[in-house]
Amino acid sequence: MSDLVEVNSKEDIFPEYQNTPIGNLLEYHNLGKKLEPYTQAKLLIGMCMDNRKHLRIPDNFAFIIRAGGANLRYSEFKVSYAIAVGDIHHIAIIGHDNCGMVNLIARKEQFIEGLIEKAGWTRELAKEHFLHFAPMYEIGNEISFAISEAKRLRLRYPKITVAPMLYKVETSKLHLIKES
Ligand SMILES: [Zn+2]
Repeated sequence: MSDLVEVNSKEDIFPEYQNTPIGNLLEYHNLGKKLEPYTQAKLLIGMCMDNRKHLRIPDNFAFIIRAGGANLRYSEFKVSYAIAVGDIHHIAIIGHDNCGMVNLIARKEQFIEGLIEKAGWTRELAKEHFLHFAPMYEIGNEISFAISEAKRLRLRYPKITVAPMLYKVETSKLHLIKES
């Protein structure tokens, strides 16, 4: 966790993010900045579908795509739409600790049994489903995945500023991630 940077004051926000929608997100959520009204979204947030996370942000401030592990690889059209039509220039990729998309293989049996018992699937179909999709949704490590998603999106959308972050479930705080 040594790559994580706590944001407890405006000075902790990396200079390249200060006074941008990314810095504003950190000020609203971590620093209690007064919520200002927005008429138009300024930021696209990619975050996990996990239920333990809630952001303190103004109404209309951000588009939010929630997908397991903050993995936007399969949400590209929505990202493109937010940029081209929604006119956002900044993206925050927010991973979180204890993410269910880390080490999926450990939950293989639970996943298969759950689909059989709770959804009425056959074992064969449930197993095939897991084996097909688990490699696509596995993120490996929350921090390194957020960094790799940010790098991937910067290459894909060169004029857009992308910041990787980590949300700590226990403290509900956002952390910046130092990239080497
Ligand atoms: Zn998660």
